[in-house]
Amino acid sequence: MQVSAVDFSSFINIPTPLKRLCHPLFEEKEVEVWLKEDYKTHEAVSGNKFRKLKYNLIEAQNKGFETLLTFGGAYSNHIYAVASAAKELGFKSIGIIRGDELNEHSSPTLSFASKMGMKLHFVSRSAYREKEEVVRKLDDKYFLIPEGGSNELALKGVSEMVDEILNEIQPTHLITAAGTGGTAAGILSNENYRGECWVVPVLKNGGFIKQEIESLLHQSEDRIQLFTDYHFGGYGKWNTKLSDFIESFEHDFNIPLDPVYTGKLLFAVMDLIRKDQFPPNSKLVVYHSGGLQGSPKYHKIK
Ligand SMILES: *Cc1c(COP(=O)(O)O)cnc(C)c1O
Repeated sequence: MQVSAVDFSSFINIPTPLKRLCHPLFEEKEVEVWLKEDYKTHEAVSGNKFRKLKYNLIEAQNKGFETLLTFGGAYSNHIYAVASAAKELGFKSIGIIRGDELNEHSSPTLSFASKMGMKLHFVSRSAYREKEEVVRKLDDKYFLIPEGGSNELALKGVSEMVDEILNEIQPTHLITAAGTGGTAAGILSNENYRGECWVVPVLKNGGFIKQEIESLLHQSEDRIQLFTDYHFGGYGKWNTKLSDFIESFEHDFNIPLDPVYTGKLLFAVMDLIRKDQFPPNSKLVVYHSGGLQGSPKYHKIK
Protein backbone atom coordinates (compact mmCIF):
# COMPACT_ATOMS: atom_id res chain seq x y z
CA MET A 1 0.00 0.00 0.00
CA GLN A 2 1.42 3.39 -0.98
CA VAL A 3 0.78 5.94 1.72
CA SER A 4 1.66 9.59 1.81
CA ALA A 5 4.79 10.25 3.82
CA VAL A 6 4.51 11.93 7.20
CA ASP A 7 5.91 15.42 6.89
CA PHE A 8 8.06 16.09 9.92
CA SER A 9 10.12 18.79 8.25
CA SER A 10 7.34 21.34 8.74
CA PHE A 11 7.84 21.31 12.51
CA ILE A 12 10.94 19.29 13.45
CA ASN A 13 14.46 20.69 13.07
CA ILE A 14 16.96 17.94 12.27
CA PRO A 15 19.83 17.25 12.13
CA THR A 16 20.37 18.89 15.50
CA PRO A 17 23.72 20.57 16.21
CA LEU A 18 26.72 18.76 17.64
CA LYS A 19 28.56 21.29 19.76
CA ARG A 20 32.09 21.04 21.14
CA LEU A 21 32.29 22.02 24.82
CA CYS A 22 35.44 23.63 26.14
CA HIS A 23 36.53 23.64 29.76
CA PRO A 24 39.93 23.63 31.53
CA LEU A 25 39.02 20.26 33.10
CA PHE A 26 38.68 18.67 29.65
CA GLU A 27 42.13 19.95 28.67
CA GLU A 28 43.66 18.75 31.90
CA LYS A 29 42.18 15.25 31.46
CA GLU A 30 42.83 15.23 27.70
CA VAL A 31 39.28 14.39 26.71
CA GLU A 32 37.18 15.90 23.94
CA VAL A 33 33.58 16.59 24.93
CA TRP A 34 30.76 17.17 22.45
CA LEU A 35 27.09 17.75 23.14
CA LYS A 36 24.40 16.45 20.78
CA GLU A 37 21.87 19.24 21.20
CA ASP A 38 18.75 17.21 20.56
CA TYR A 39 16.62 19.55 22.64
CA LYS A 40 16.57 21.70 19.54
CA THR A 41 14.25 19.40 17.53
CA HIS A 42 11.07 21.17 18.70
CA GLU A 43 9.92 22.92 21.84
CA ALA A 44 7.47 20.19 22.82
CA VAL A 45 8.35 17.19 20.64
CA SER A 46 11.81 17.32 22.00
CA GLY A 47 14.96 15.22 21.93
CA ASN A 48 14.62 11.51 22.45
CA LYS A 49 10.83 11.77 22.65
CA PHE A 50 10.75 12.84 19.00
CA ARG A 51 13.27 10.18 18.02
CA LYS A 52 11.27 7.44 19.73
CA LEU A 53 7.96 8.65 18.29
CA LYS A 54 9.03 9.16 14.69
CA TYR A 55 8.54 5.62 13.36
CA ASN A 56 5.56 5.03 15.61
CA LEU A 57 3.84 8.01 14.00
CA ILE A 58 4.75 6.81 10.52
CA GLU A 59 3.39 3.35 11.34
CA ALA A 60 0.17 4.82 12.78
CA GLN A 61 -0.37 6.84 9.63
CA ASN A 62 0.52 3.97 7.27
CA LYS A 63 -1.93 1.70 9.03
CA GLY A 64 -4.67 4.31 8.82
CA PHE A 65 -5.12 4.98 12.54
CA GLU A 66 -6.74 8.29 13.47
CA THR A 67 -6.13 8.14 17.20
CA LEU A 68 -2.97 7.66 19.26
CA LEU A 69 -3.29 6.25 22.76
CA THR A 70 -0.54 6.33 25.31
CA PHE A 71 0.26 6.44 29.03
CA GLY A 72 2.17 8.47 31.55
CA GLY A 73 2.41 10.34 34.82
CA ALA A 74 1.52 13.97 35.51
CA TYR A 75 5.01 15.17 34.55
CA SER A 76 5.65 12.84 31.62
CA ASN A 77 7.69 14.35 28.79
CA HIS A 78 6.32 11.56 26.63
CA ILE A 79 2.70 12.66 27.20
CA TYR A 80 3.76 16.22 26.38
CA ALA A 81 5.42 15.12 23.14
CA VAL A 82 2.62 12.82 21.97
CA ALA A 83 -0.03 15.50 22.57
CA SER A 84 1.94 18.02 20.55
CA ALA A 85 2.96 15.66 17.73
CA ALA A 86 -0.64 14.46 17.40
CA LYS A 87 -1.82 18.02 16.98
CA GLU A 88 0.91 18.85 14.45
CA LEU A 89 0.10 15.78 12.36
CA GLY A 90 -3.69 15.74 12.70
CA PHE A 91 -4.11 12.68 14.91
CA LYS A 92 -6.52 12.58 17.81
CA SER A 93 -4.85 11.57 21.04
CA ILE A 94 -5.75 9.95 24.33
CA GLY A 95 -3.57 9.93 27.42
CA ILE A 96 -4.15 7.44 30.25
CA ILE A 97 -2.75 9.24 33.28
CA ARG A 98 -1.56 7.59 36.49
CA GLY A 99 -3.47 8.99 39.48
CA ASP A 100 -7.26 9.27 39.74
CA GLU A 101 -6.91 12.19 42.17
CA LEU A 102 -5.53 14.36 39.34
CA ASN A 103 -7.18 16.59 36.78
CA GLU A 104 -6.09 18.56 33.73
CA HIS A 105 -4.88 21.44 35.92
CA SER A 106 -2.66 19.28 38.14
CA SER A 107 0.57 20.00 36.27
CA PRO A 108 1.86 22.18 33.43
CA THR A 109 2.30 18.98 31.38
CA LEU A 110 -1.34 17.98 31.77
CA SER A 111 -2.65 21.48 31.03
CA PHE A 112 -0.49 21.60 27.92
CA ALA A 113 -1.60 18.15 26.74
CA SER A 114 -5.20 19.06 27.27
CA LYS A 115 -4.74 22.34 25.40
CA MET A 116 -3.27 20.35 22.48
CA GLY A 117 -6.53 18.42 22.37
CA MET A 118 -5.38 15.25 24.13
CA LYS A 119 -8.23 13.52 25.98
CA LEU A 120 -7.02 12.65 29.45
CA HIS A 121 -8.29 9.67 31.41
CA PHE A 122 -7.22 9.53 35.03
CA VAL A 123 -6.93 6.06 36.51
CA SER A 124 -5.97 4.77 39.94
CA ARG A 125 -2.45 3.53 40.49
CA SER A 126 -3.65 -0.06 40.70
CA ALA A 127 -5.66 0.19 37.46
CA TYR A 128 -2.66 1.87 35.84
CA ARG A 129 -0.49 -1.16 36.52
CA GLU A 130 -2.79 -3.25 34.30
CA LYS A 131 -3.21 -0.46 31.78
CA GLU A 132 -1.90 -1.93 28.56
CA GLU A 133 -3.77 -5.17 29.09
CA VAL A 134 -7.03 -3.37 29.84
CA VAL A 135 -6.76 -1.09 26.82
CA ARG A 136 -5.83 -3.95 24.51
CA LYS A 137 -9.01 -5.78 25.48
CA LEU A 138 -11.18 -2.70 25.08
CA ASP A 139 -10.73 -1.80 21.50
CA ASP A 140 -8.30 -1.93 18.61
CA LYS A 141 -9.18 1.40 17.03
CA TYR A 142 -6.28 3.06 18.75
CA PHE A 143 -2.63 3.05 17.82
CA LEU A 144 -0.99 2.09 21.08
CA ILE A 145 2.31 3.61 22.13
CA PRO A 146 3.82 2.21 25.33
CA GLU A 147 4.67 4.36 28.35
CA GLY A 148 7.82 6.35 27.60
CA GLY A 149 7.53 5.38 23.92
CA SER A 150 10.19 2.65 24.14
CA ASN A 151 9.44 -0.08 21.62
CA GLU A 152 11.11 -1.58 18.56
CA LEU A 153 10.06 1.31 16.34
CA ALA A 154 11.63 3.72 18.81
CA LEU A 155 15.09 2.20 18.37
CA LYS A 156 15.17 3.04 14.68
CA GLY A 157 14.47 6.70 15.33
CA VAL A 158 17.15 6.95 18.00
CA SER A 159 19.59 5.15 15.72
CA GLU A 160 19.09 7.90 13.11
CA MET A 161 20.21 10.43 15.71
CA VAL A 162 23.43 8.42 16.09
CA ASP A 163 23.91 8.54 12.30
CA GLU A 164 23.77 12.33 12.54
CA ILE A 165 26.64 12.20 15.06
CA LEU A 166 28.67 9.71 12.99
CA ASN A 167 28.38 12.02 9.99
CA GLU A 168 30.47 14.50 11.97
CA ILE A 169 32.75 12.61 14.36
CA GLN A 170 33.59 9.09 15.60
CA PRO A 171 33.06 9.11 19.37
CA THR A 172 34.64 6.62 21.77
CA HIS A 173 31.76 7.04 24.23
CA LEU A 174 28.11 8.05 23.81
CA ILE A 175 26.58 8.98 27.14
CA THR A 176 22.88 9.26 27.90
CA ALA A 177 20.44 9.57 30.79
CA ALA A 178 18.00 6.67 31.16
CA GLY A 179 14.49 6.13 32.43
CA THR A 180 13.35 3.03 30.54
CA GLY A 181 16.59 2.38 28.62
CA GLY A 182 14.91 2.76 25.23
CA THR A 183 17.24 5.57 24.20
CA ALA A 184 20.36 3.65 25.21
CA ALA A 185 19.07 0.60 23.32
CA GLY A 186 18.50 2.78 20.25
CA ILE A 187 22.07 4.06 20.43
CA LEU A 188 23.45 0.52 20.63
CA SER A 189 21.16 -0.66 17.83
CA ASN A 190 23.07 1.53 15.38
CA GLU A 191 25.29 -0.87 13.47
CA ASN A 192 27.75 1.80 12.40
CA TYR A 193 28.55 2.79 15.97
CA ARG A 194 31.17 0.58 17.63
CA GLY A 195 31.98 2.69 20.72
CA GLU A 196 30.76 2.43 24.29
CA CYS A 197 27.34 3.48 25.57
CA TRP A 198 27.54 4.86 29.10
CA VAL A 199 24.24 5.22 30.86
CA VAL A 200 23.11 7.33 33.81
CA PRO A 201 19.82 6.07 35.29
CA VAL A 202 17.81 8.93 36.81
CA LEU A 203 15.92 6.67 39.20
CA LYS A 204 16.95 4.78 42.29
CA ASN A 205 18.21 1.20 41.95
CA GLY A 206 18.63 1.73 38.21
CA GLY A 207 20.69 -1.44 37.73
CA PHE A 208 17.72 -3.21 36.10
CA ILE A 209 18.06 -0.89 33.11
CA LYS A 210 20.87 -3.02 31.68
CA GLN A 211 18.46 -5.95 31.27
CA GLU A 212 15.83 -3.61 29.83
CA ILE A 213 18.31 -2.43 27.21
CA GLU A 214 19.37 -5.96 26.36
CA SER A 215 15.79 -7.13 26.13
CA LEU A 216 14.96 -4.31 23.67
CA LEU A 217 18.06 -5.31 21.68
CA HIS A 218 17.29 -9.06 21.90
CA GLN A 219 20.89 -9.72 22.82
CA SER A 220 23.40 -9.20 25.59
CA GLU A 221 25.68 -6.24 25.10
CA ASP A 222 29.08 -5.64 26.69
CA ARG A 223 29.46 -2.04 25.53
CA ILE A 224 27.00 -0.79 28.19
CA GLN A 225 28.26 0.72 31.40
CA LEU A 226 25.75 1.88 34.02
CA PHE A 227 26.42 4.56 36.65
CA THR A 228 23.69 4.16 39.22
CA ASP A 229 24.85 6.69 41.83
CA TYR A 230 23.63 9.88 40.19
CA HIS A 231 19.86 9.65 40.85
CA PHE A 232 19.83 12.34 43.60
CA GLY A 233 17.23 10.49 45.64
CA GLY A 234 15.12 9.05 42.85
CA TYR A 235 13.02 9.89 39.84
CA GLY A 236 11.99 13.56 39.79
CA LYS A 237 13.96 14.28 42.96
CA TRP A 238 16.82 16.73 43.28
CA ASN A 239 18.61 18.82 45.90
CA THR A 240 20.51 22.09 46.03
CA LYS A 241 23.75 20.35 45.04
CA LEU A 242 22.10 19.48 41.71
CA SER A 243 20.32 22.79 41.21
CA ASP A 244 23.56 24.68 42.00
CA PHE A 245 25.37 22.50 39.48
CA ILE A 246 22.73 23.16 36.82
CA GLU A 247 22.96 26.88 37.41
CA SER A 248 26.74 26.94 37.11
CA PHE A 249 26.73 24.64 34.07
CA GLU A 250 24.17 26.83 32.31
CA HIS A 251 26.31 29.84 33.15
CA ASP A 252 29.62 28.27 31.98
CA PHE A 253 28.34 26.69 28.77
CA ASN A 254 25.17 28.60 27.97
CA ILE A 255 23.24 25.34 27.67
CA PRO A 256 19.90 24.80 29.46
CA LEU A 257 19.45 21.63 31.54
CA ASP A 258 16.43 20.06 33.22
CA PRO A 259 16.65 18.68 36.77
CA VAL A 260 15.04 15.31 35.98
CA TYR A 261 17.30 13.95 33.23
CA THR A 262 19.97 16.10 31.62
CA GLY A 263 21.03 17.87 34.84
CA LYS A 264 21.85 14.50 36.44
CA LEU A 265 23.53 13.35 33.23
CA LEU A 266 25.87 16.32 32.96
CA PHE A 267 26.60 16.20 36.67
CA ALA A 268 27.65 12.57 36.21
CA VAL A 269 29.77 13.33 33.14
CA MET A 270 31.71 16.11 34.87
CA ASP A 271 32.20 13.91 37.93
CA LEU A 272 33.38 10.89 35.90
CA ILE A 273 35.83 13.06 33.97
CA ARG A 274 37.15 14.49 37.23
CA LYS A 275 37.58 10.94 38.57
CA ASP A 276 39.60 9.85 35.51
CA GLN A 277 37.00 7.36 34.31
CA PHE A 278 37.68 8.21 30.67
CA PRO A 279 41.09 7.30 29.23
CA PRO A 280 43.08 10.22 27.74
CA ASN A 281 42.12 10.98 24.12
CA SER A 282 38.55 9.81 24.65
CA LYS A 283 36.02 11.55 22.44
CA LEU A 284 32.77 11.82 24.35
CA VAL A 285 29.40 12.71 22.92
CA VAL A 286 26.91 13.58 25.62
CA TYR A 287 23.31 13.22 24.47
CA HIS A 288 21.12 16.19 25.46
CA SER A 289 17.81 14.37 25.26
CA GLY A 290 15.57 17.42 25.78
CA GLY A 291 13.08 17.58 28.64
CA LEU A 292 13.30 21.33 29.12
CA GLN A 293 9.52 21.71 28.88
CA GLY A 294 9.21 19.71 32.10
CA SER A 295 11.53 21.95 34.04
CA PRO A 296 9.83 24.21 36.60
CA LYS A 297 12.31 26.94 35.80
CA TYR A 298 11.41 26.82 32.15
CA HIS A 299 7.79 27.47 33.05
CA LYS A 300 8.81 30.31 35.30
CA ILE A 301 10.81 31.93 32.50
CA LYS A 302 7.93 31.64 30.06
C1 LIG B 1 12.12 10.27 28.73
C2 LIG B 1 13.43 10.94 28.82
C3 LIG B 1 14.64 10.23 29.02
C4 LIG B 1 14.66 8.74 29.28
O1 LIG B 1 14.70 8.00 28.11
P1 LIG B 1 14.55 6.43 28.11
O2 LIG B 1 14.54 6.08 26.68
O3 LIG B 1 13.21 6.14 28.75
O4 LIG B 1 15.64 5.83 28.88
C5 LIG B 1 15.83 10.92 29.01
N1 LIG B 1 15.86 12.28 28.85
C6 LIG B 1 14.73 12.99 28.68
C7 LIG B 1 14.84 14.46 28.54
C8 LIG B 1 13.49 12.35 28.65
O5 LIG B 1 12.37 13.09 28.49
